[in-house]
Amino acid sequence: MIQIDALPAFTDNYIWLLQDNASKRCAVVDPGDAAPVLAWLGNHPGWELSDILITHHHADHTGGVAELKDLTGAKVYGPANEKIPARDVALSDHDEVTVLGLTFAVHAVPGHTLGHIAFYHADPQTPLLFSGDTLFAAGCGRLFEGTPEQMHHSLSRLAELPDSTEVYCAHEYTLSNLRFAVAVEPENPDVTGRFEQVTRWREENRISLPSTLGLERKTNPFLRASQPSVKQKADERTGIDNASPVAVFAALRAWKDKF
Ligand code: ZN
Ligand code: FE
Repeated sequence: MIQIDALPAFTDNYIWLLQDNASKRCAVVDPGDAAPVLAWLGNHPGWELSDILITHHHADHTGGVAELKDLTGAKVYGPANEKIPARDVALSDHDEVTVLGLTFAVHAVPGHTLGHIAFYHADPQTPLLFSGDTLFAAGCGRLFEGTPEQMHHSLSRLAELPDSTEVYCAHEYTLSNLRFAVAVEPENPDVTGRFEQVTRWREENRISLPSTLGLERKTNPFLRASQPSVKQKADERTGIDNASPVAVFAALRAWKDKF
């Protein structure tokens, strides 16, 4: 049994901490800052950080890697096509890595950055997805390096994973993403209901993650570019007929950038 907890970092990042209670080994995903991880290790004597998984090169995901590697000797896994500090294992699409006894399939998901990868564990009961800054709860990452086509394709690939997949993304952006989702689909009760729920959670300072892929398919506008009402909203915004789901996606992403 692997327990997963969030270590908050900076203003809205989460460093995901995977714990194997039997062996007292743990792993982290995207440690942008070493301090929260070192604090946890300091409070948990006897635990060893064995592995570090990295989704992409941005500093808020990699800033703590070198220090953690230095202090713990943890093995660092990261995307092959990006510059990752202290990387031991370079990962490409369809590679597999085993961490704490869990096997993860690597999915190349370019868009936010060109080399961005996601980690998927196909557990029969509770599949796990570490999606970095690609798929967020109710949103998606900005297109810093890739094209709308690339990001749409990447998200479509993730959207094929099972409904029960738990989605662990790297930022607490859910509430602001849902504000946008409500603007796109004001008549969608799943969206408005989730907006109300996450509003309450955030008022109580509760984390909004993990999400599930089933919920994302129902409420994340960036996974819903093929819905007629979403296309209609995109057309209203742009004043043109966005004939393909990619064009709808691009219109949504541009709208959200200024929302
Ligand atoms: Zn990023
Ligand atoms: Fe980030």
